[in-house]
Amino acid sequence: MRLHILASGSRGNASIVEGPDGLVLIDDGISRKCLRERSAELGVSCDDIACLVVTHEHSDHVKGLDVWCRHWKGRIVSAPGTARQRCLCERDVEEVRGGQSFEACGMRITAFSTSHDVADPLGLVFETATDRLAFVTDTGVFPEEALALVRGARVIALESNHDPAMLAQGEYPAFLKARVGGELGHLSNVQAAEVARRVVTGSTEALVAMHISQRNNLPSLAVRALAEAVGATAANTTFTRAVRAAERPGGAVLEVLAASQEMPMTVG
Ligand SMILES: [Zn+2]
Ligand SMILES: [Zn+2]
Repeated sequence: MRLHILASGSRGNASIVEGPDGLVLIDDGISRKCLRERSAELGVSCDDIACLVVTHEHSDHVKGLDVWCRHWKGRIVSAPGTARQRCLCERDVEEVRGGQSFEACGMRITAFSTSHDVADPLGLVFETATDRLAFVTDTGVFPEEALALVRGARVIALESNHDPAMLAQGEYPAFLKARVGGELGHLSNVQAAEVARRVVTGSTEALVAMHISQRNNLPSLAVRALAEAVGATAANTTFTRAVRAAERPGGAVLEVLAASQEMPMTVG
């Protein structure tokens, strides 16, 4: 499996998981044009997207959906509470609840409930017989029930939204600071680092800081926090990439990276 992150951040989110038998799109918060251009840039074709999973109904995750669904006829999957939201297109939505799994594109996809100020938000774990990839963004706390599922995944895409000091000192009004930093908001660098300590193992090859705030964070701060948590050291002068050598001969080298709003990237 490979993870193609087309866009990550509060201005729009879309990622593609490339499975053995096709592509699964996670969220559609960018324009159709942008989705097509960025996937082509990463060497995958939108025509191979067989399934779209919507994690929740915030506009930065669904605003491309309406136009996209006029041209595309694949499966749409979301939690029941998300499926009831009017912002989803007019199409039938297959429902998956936290704790349930479904099959798509040669992968088993397990959903788990997250903690966010929407009806029914989900995190996701993608599995084949030999590989596991975890994806969790837009959650104020990391769900304990998901720890065992996420732990040791080869690729872990984990929200690292804000630096607590930048959020506290920044220009957001008090209510927004409380929302972002609260239990129904977004994971901070400090929280993500705590999670990373618990879920990254010698099997993990990539840990990606997701949904990085452009106002209340810097890619280098997110990567630094995660890198320190897992014992990785800077691999470039800007500290936007860090690496940790394999713990055992033949083991995995761990790379810590920052996802971007503007620059698409492939992981894994
Ligand atoms: Zn979001
Ligand atoms: Zn959200």
